[in-house]
Amino acid sequence: MSQTDYQEIIVAKTPGDRTTMHVLYGMHTVAPFTLWTLSVIALIGHYVKRADEQDVLYLAHHNYMIRTVWWTMLWLLVSSPLWALLFLRGRSPGPWSAPGISTVACAAGCASTTIGSPSKSPAMSHSDPNCIFCKIVEGKIPSRKVYEDDEILAFHDIHPWAPVHFLLIPKQHIVSMAHVEAGHGPMMGRLMSLVPRLAQQEGCRPYPEGGFRLVCNTGDDGGQEVRHLHFHVIGGPRPWLKG
Ligand code: 5GP
Ligand code: ZN
Repeated sequence: MSQTDYQEIIVAKTPGDRTTMHVLYGMHTVAPFTLWTLSVIALIGHYVKRADEQDVLYLAHHNYMIRTVWWTMLWLLVSSPLWALLFLRGRSPGPWSAPGISTVACAAGCASTTIGSPSKSPAMSHSDPNCIFCKIVEGKIPSRKVYEDDEILAFHDIHPWAPVHFLLIPKQHIVSMAHVEAGHGPMMGRLMSLVPRLAQQEGCRPYPEGGFRLVCNTGDDGGQEVRHLHFHVIGGPRPWLKG
């Protein structure tokens, strides 16, 4: 399965799919208990019916079954800490998690909701080796930096449309605005709050005479060329080349 296929799976996921998954997980969890309870009820009924029997083989089997019940209960008790896993949030999408299921925020703000995949999907992984902006983040392609912290990078656009034109990106490889999830919230909030500060720092005149344009092209219809989430901050005195 190619990375593109995984991307399509993620895009195709709906809240309904997630509900279905939760119901299936629930049924999966309850099933052993149901079987166990039914077995115990059947066993008790059986013993009640044959309570007066003195058959040696039957008594041996009776004792064996009782021991089995106790061993099963001991096993459930010993394995009970594993149930905590149901309530723990993961740290990042593991190689075993399904695409789109994790709801966890990792240090770089990835929504591991999401959800994961047999291999990291382009929308969730921290870096895509074929992505120009990931290469800029890693310093493999040079850029004129405007701002940098552990999650966010801002750098001048290579083909500016206006006296001020820089790009603000998450360092994590998020494909586009269409791939942003709740787990990205804190990082996205910080990124947005950087816009006015950096716009002023780079020479945009104060609001309202000045101001700037904030653009986030998304997908083919949105005119997105680089498939790594980015915000254009464009400003400075007009005329501009575009926009
Ligand atoms: P999009 O059309 O995807 O919204 O915008 C991508 C922007 O990235 C374009 O404005 C383009 O000039 C800019 N860009 C593409 N490659 C590079 C690069 O290697 N370095 C820099 N600094 N900007 C780039
Ligand atoms: Zn990237």
